[in-house]
Amino acid sequence: GGGRGCVALRGAQIRDLLDAKHNVLFDCDGVIWNGETAVAGAPEVVSLLKQRGKRVFFVTNNCTRPRENYVQKFSRLGFADVAEEEIFSSAYCSAAYLRDVARLQGKVYAIGGGGVLKELRDAGVPVVEEPAEQEEGTSIYNCPLDPDVRAVLVGYDESFTFMKLAKACCYLRDAECLFLATDPDPWHPLRGGRITPGSGSLTAALETASSRKATVIGKPSRFMFDCISSQFDLDPSRSLMIGDRLETDILFGSNCGLSTVLTLTGVSTLDEAQRYRDSQSPEQKDCAPDFVVESVADFLQVLEE
Ligand code: PLP
Ligand code: CA
Repeated sequence: GGGRGCVALRGAQIRDLLDAKHNVLFDCDGVIWNGETAVAGAPEVVSLLKQRGKRVFFVTNNCTRPRENYVQKFSRLGFADVAEEEIFSSAYCSAAYLRDVARLQGKVYAIGGGGVLKELRDAGVPVVEEPAEQEEGTSIYNCPLDPDVRAVLVGYDESFTFMKLAKACCYLRDAECLFLATDPDPWHPLRGGRITPGSGSLTAALETASSRKATVIGKPSRFMFDCISSQFDLDPSRSLMIGDRLETDILFGSNCGLSTVLTLTGVSTLDEAQRYRDSQSPEQKDCAPDFVVESVADFLQVLEE
């Protein structure tokens, strides 16, 4: 890496960095797109990296879509040649964790939207069916609990309710019941300056209610890198992580031994990066990136040579 020094990357340094790396890991929102708008130049950067023989992966904490749905989004936003196998979301990796690492015997109680449920089903992980509408007369005193539940998974859920929270903390009374979170993200920017609470805020509610701590699957946890590595055999020292959020993407890169680049098209600012760099605490320093660019489009010039 470059020593977590927040070094502003320019032409020749970008060339040297790309020459040294074989794998490029992109965060999605704030790096290659913002919501439904591609970051200018990002589709070209991804295509050119592939043409130059680099392996490209997309590592997103967004658990709301199944993989196949991301493929459509990439193509809709002008990314011509992105395959499902290159996309690693916190929903996909949570399902992989339950199947391959935890080897779950029993069912998972999932708080989350369609993306989480679809990935769990695709992985063959049994899920407790939630009624779409609560039956008349059910309450926290009498709502049914499934005796086969052995894991609770919490992700972004716009239909989060008190009842779901109540059920989840009942399941977690059993110390043998796993407690997983898709990602720790506190909030996300929406259009027009609004924000929406992230999975981390729902997980925090359940952590308080259960007096337990969730195992986080998404960034900054190492598991997403292990998940990619198990399929593609990545050498961390030849891999680059590009992200916009210091506490998730950049910390993820540091945790996995990757070189890190902060791009300023998303959530975190150069100021925040420099404050982490100058901090005395080693944990805070791990949130400082090796390098900083304004946008992934800064890679274009070198790639077009
Ligand atoms: N989770 C949700 C629900 C989101 O809406 C977003 C960003 O839009 C994210 C997570 C963060 O995604 P990424 O890791 O690609 O920045
Ligand atoms: Ca992001």
